[in-house]
Amino acid sequence: MTADVFSDALKRLDAAAEFVDVHPETVLRLRQPRLMTEFAIPVRMDDGSLRVFTGFRCRYDDTRGPAKGGIRFHQDVCASEVKALAFWMTFKCSVVGIPFGGGKGGVIVDPKQLSTAELERLSRGYMRAAARFVGVDTDVPAPDVNTTPLIMAWMSDEFATILGERQPGVITGKPVAVGGSVGRDDATARGGWYCLQELQRKLSWLPKAQGRTCAVQGFGNAGEFFSRFAAQEGYKVVAISDSRGGVFNPGGLDVEAQIRTKAQTKRVDAKAPGCRPITNEELLELDVDLLVPAAIENVITAGNASRVRAKAVLELANGPITSDADPVLSSRRIVVVPDVLANAGGVTVSYFEWTQNKSGFYWTREEVHQRLQQIMAREFGAVYDLAQQKKIDMRTAAYAHALRRLGAALESTGTARNFAKGG
Ligand code: NAD
Repeated sequence: MTADVFSDALKRLDAAAEFVDVHPETVLRLRQPRLMTEFAIPVRMDDGSLRVFTGFRCRYDDTRGPAKGGIRFHQDVCASEVKALAFWMTFKCSVVGIPFGGGKGGVIVDPKQLSTAELERLSRGYMRAAARFVGVDTDVPAPDVNTTPLIMAWMSDEFATILGERQPGVITGKPVAVGGSVGRDDATARGGWYCLQELQRKLSWLPKAQGRTCAVQGFGNAGEFFSRFAAQEGYKVVAISDSRGGVFNPGGLDVEAQIRTKAQTKRVDAKAPGCRPITNEELLELDVDLLVPAAIENVITAGNASRVRAKAVLELANGPITSDADPVLSSRRIVVVPDVLANAGGVTVSYFEWTQNKSGFYWTREEVHQRLQQIMAREFGAVYDLAQQKKIDMRTAAYAHALRRLGAALESTGTARNFAKGG
């Protein structure tokens, strides 16, 4: 991400504010994070040397509830990115109406260069440094890029050592055996699929009967589960890809066979019958009904947006479309279901995990699915209707919908209206 990613994120706030009746003080208060910390994490390496890593934690806004957001381990992490991601989390939690604010954390590190023991020392070191800023009712971290359930288990364990008691709700995305929730594994893709089912109703799509097609960029947690749901729903999944390239079959891929091959060989299979290799760039420009970016940010830009031929784009990745590409897609009547709604299934089931940890009462997979479906369908409907009513794209509508809830919370303690002279 670029260094000014945070200022770019703030443009969404200004755009949304035009369409919802919030006090200017709400916008003013949402222009900067409540708390942004940077800390050193000294780690003893396997060869006996010492390395000092830089960590961050941002509590962007916690008016609607404890801050919520993942911890990213990546060499490109920087303060601006952490703030932007925490800002997006503030809006994402508000879009789906869960009682959380937004937060995010990160460490500047390429975790692939570390041994497992070094990674454990770094993860525990992060929690030691961040312990005074996080907590079940203050700021609840989770996994993000390159951080896994195992890392969450190390961090949760370190927090328990510092506190002298187990508080599993301090972090979500844990293994189920130590307080994770069933259904967290496929929650992001499932939430996107529930959005898709609502979109189909609005567009009168009958995927199987009409032979609808779909292409998915990224074949990791989000993309792999989503490809499976799309195939089950009746879509012909004609292309998938990962960082090494993709595979295209105009007649529809065998998604289950691709999942098996990927698990065995770590790559998708372009040599399967009827298939040919395809680049990530070509995949984005395929003539399909549904395009699902589920990999990284900034893949659809002003440079290629005019060549996107999909009728709808469902953003499972965070930030796959740049702000200058949005108007190009919108002028071509391509419906974009924005990331803050489409991939909110992950944080919603993290909320379920936190709720279960707090109550000590654990739900079944069916209960998780049913509650997730209700939330995604309800909030999709609200965003879609607002977009129609105001004649704006779904991204601006999602931000406006979230801003309305944030405004109600931030203004509950009064604005200049309450404090005007004689008031
Ligand atoms: P992941 O690491 O499991 O998978 C990422 C996939 O993208 C991999 O298949 C990888 O090979 C591929 N990829 C990486 N670079 C690529 C490139 N340049 N071109 C094409 N493919 C590339 O990650 P994930 O959890 O599936 O996350 C994917 C996206 O979804 C991210 O933007 C993430 O922020 C977002 N997201 C994930 C969750 C979640 O719960 N997993 C929740 C919300 C948002």
